[in-house]
Amino acid sequence: MNVHDSERLSGLLEDAGYERAAEDTTADVVVFNTCAVRENADNRLYGNLGHLRPAKDAHPGMQIAVGGCLAQKDRGEIVRRAPWVDVVFGTHNIGSLPVLLERARVQREAQVEIEESLETFPSTLPSRRESAYAAWVSVSVGCNNTCTFCIVPSLRGTEKDRRPGDVLAEVRALVDEGVAEVTLLGQNVNAYGSEFGDRQAFSKLLRACGEVEGLERVRFTSPHPRDFTDDVIEAMAETPNVMPQLHMPLQSGSSRVLKAMRRSYRQERFLSIVGKVREAMPEAAISTDIIVGFPGETEEDFEETLHVVREARFASAFTFQYSKRPGTPAAEMEGHLPKEVVQERYERLVHLQEEISAEENRRLVGSELELLVSEGEGRKNGERRRLSGRAPDNRLVHFAVDDDTAERLRPGDFATVEVTYGAPHHLVADSGVRAVRPTRAGDAWAARNGREPEQPGVLLGMPTVGAPAEPQPAASGGCGIG
Ligand code: SF4
Repeated sequence: MNVHDSERLSGLLEDAGYERAAEDTTADVVVFNTCAVRENADNRLYGNLGHLRPAKDAHPGMQIAVGGCLAQKDRGEIVRRAPWVDVVFGTHNIGSLPVLLERARVQREAQVEIEESLETFPSTLPSRRESAYAAWVSVSVGCNNTCTFCIVPSLRGTEKDRRPGDVLAEVRALVDEGVAEVTLLGQNVNAYGSEFGDRQAFSKLLRACGEVEGLERVRFTSPHPRDFTDDVIEAMAETPNVMPQLHMPLQSGSSRVLKAMRRSYRQERFLSIVGKVREAMPEAAISTDIIVGFPGETEEDFEETLHVVREARFASAFTFQYSKRPGTPAAEMEGHLPKEVVQERYERLVHLQEEISAEENRRLVGSELELLVSEGEGRKNGERRRLSGRAPDNRLVHFAVDDDTAERLRPGDFATVEVTYGAPHHLVADSGVRAVRPTRAGDAWAARNGREPEQPGVLLGMPTVGAPAEPQPAASGGCGIG
């Protein structure tokens, strides 16, 4: 959510005439888009602001703005603690940034503007997309739930849904620009429609995305088990460009802890959704988020979490040790656990999940996957003569390429490979590329990066050209909440 908000802030500033500062130059404007979900967000912000102060002193006219959840939370406190900040803006008024920067410049004093709530979804804000071939599309902001560990509802407000027509218009415009993959985004994405009273709005949106010509892959994050209705599973299974991947936060496997977290589903319901998804899409990769050591969690509660992990066989899991977020109900609860207890449980959980992830990945050895070639996902790719891509189920695959293929394949193109090795966090395909499918997304990447567009229909090995990928097995993504 914050990454996409940053794209919107960049888009707004570019629309207002600003240009991205070149590397190694001192920018005239620095914007911090903060997140309050992770631990130590405030220490990091004030530390960064402190580091920037000498640069600001040395460059008269430089402006510093702070937005996002921490700005919404700390408000005027930010300019009290760091009086060299020029603008503080909240989560509900990111559209005001250019005006606030201008006002701060003219009036020569800090501007703090925090709206308490969002009236309507800000559908018309421009975006400066980081990727030429994959894009985030917001369907809603805010959340109507009140999970006791989460600061989001108090900082992002209640759910505001975007009109379906606006979502689809943005998806179509992105595809026209060459985007191959969209990820629908919402704090509680599958509650979409609750504001305008249509409980099936999310499944209808998935099906409508299936009709957008040229859109190869659709994903979404993050759904809430409470709202995971059968019509969503059916829409996923029946819409070919909706990928066989589900990131669904578990948080705890203990129904007692879920109740204390004010998560309205129980262990049985979670496992029954997993069972239905597996039945409808046997190849789907299911991933999750888990919090260890919530206040009052007993060894028995933790065993329940391990039980769900064994049953669900997640492809991957984002695991977190519970830590207090001031302002949340859980921070005030009794029964906070000693750090060493949480650490020991956490290590057991990670060990189990790593074993399962490795086993699930090894099951894929020998299978053929069509990958969307990605940019910057393999640190050692250069020395190992590999590229990286994402399988339909979002698993990361590093694959070997010869010189000719390396020359042709661009991020955004598709490559068909056979999996030769499964590690816990990625797959390897070292037996060569069987087919290449150049795409408009690859052309869009080439145009951005000053390369010639590829001629259509270039083939290597077995032909799979033309059709979107058939769903293939299994991995994850996600924001750590939801
Ligand atoms: S954890 Fe997710 S569902 Fe719960 S309140 Fe936070 S954003 Fe909403």
